[in-house]
Amino acid sequence: MINFQYLRTTSAKSAIALLLKDKNAKFLAGGTNLIDLMKRGVTAPEKLIDINHVPLKQIEQIGNKIHIGALATNTAVADHALIKEKLPLLSWALQAGASAQLRNVATVGGNMMQRTRCGYFYDTEMPCNKRQPGTGCGAMEGFNRMHAIFGTSEKCIAVHPSDMCVALTALDAEVVLANGKGERKIAFKDFHRLAGDTPQLDNNLKADEMIIRVEIPVNNLAKNYHYLKVRDRASYAFALVSVAAAFELNNNKITDIRLAMGGVAHKPWRLTASENFLKGKEATLSNFEKAAGLAMTGAKGFGENNFKLKLAPNTIIEALNLAKSKA
Ligand code: SF4
Repeated sequence: MINFQYLRTTSAKSAIALLLKDKNAKFLAGGTNLIDLMKRGVTAPEKLIDINHVPLKQIEQIGNKIHIGALATNTAVADHALIKEKLPLLSWALQAGASAQLRNVATVGGNMMQRTRCGYFYDTEMPCNKRQPGTGCGAMEGFNRMHAIFGTSEKCIAVHPSDMCVALTALDAEVVLANGKGERKIAFKDFHRLAGDTPQLDNNLKADEMIIRVEIPVNNLAKNYHYLKVRDRASYAFALVSVAAAFELNNNKITDIRLAMGGVAHKPWRLTASENFLKGKEATLSNFEKAAGLAMTGAKGFGENNFKLKLAPNTIIEALNLAKSKA
């Protein structure tokens, strides 16, 4: 690890001002991914701006939206009574992530900013277009068991590792970002990017911006929901495939539905075609199977991850069945 300067700040305004002064500075919150990246030489910021004392830890309902501050920890969100009651899908997704110790310090903003766990990205001896554009992609014809089957590019087939972000994508969340001039709001589904020709970019956060909070509309999806994460170990493992499913049932007819997948793309993968198919239909196994088939349009394996082409639709069907069984 190289030497760096450590700074601490107590307001978003001063944090952004410090960021503007140095292009090679980074915010430090829980540090659960950033410190690993620094230890391995994948990133080497000259300044770390500790934002843990910035008051952005609120979890509250304002009007018909639930606001969650960027510095609320994953544990605080998952365990909060308001989240358990009104957004249980988010609570479940958070509890599926990492370990209890990591969730205790990892923040909402940090969870969004975490980087892929592709092994080539973390090994500075190996080619990786995300770490060093133009060097090639080691995973394309290498070890790619964990990698993407949707939205891939010739430059990168990495997946975004978050569980929380899959649920927030499904729940139509928005992200509030601030810079020196004010705030802007974007749909959560548009925060993360596909790799395309710029795999070094994970998201659409600008260099002078800070994540302030996420806002999630209150919904009627707190009864029939499930977050199903398929992984190599029962805990502390990243998803091979995960599915966030939530729907509203009226006499076994689906009146509203949200579906998203994790572990399959460079960003959380919303299943809009499957949602549109299921809306207004009976919650039957046959319809779940058809919806899962629709979700697989355009899927492509790269060898070791070909098993995901079967695992993904099966996980969708099982998540929908488990959500229905909560009725
Ligand atoms: Fe790097 Fe992406 Fe290829 Fe992994 S998949 S080696 S992160 S370019």
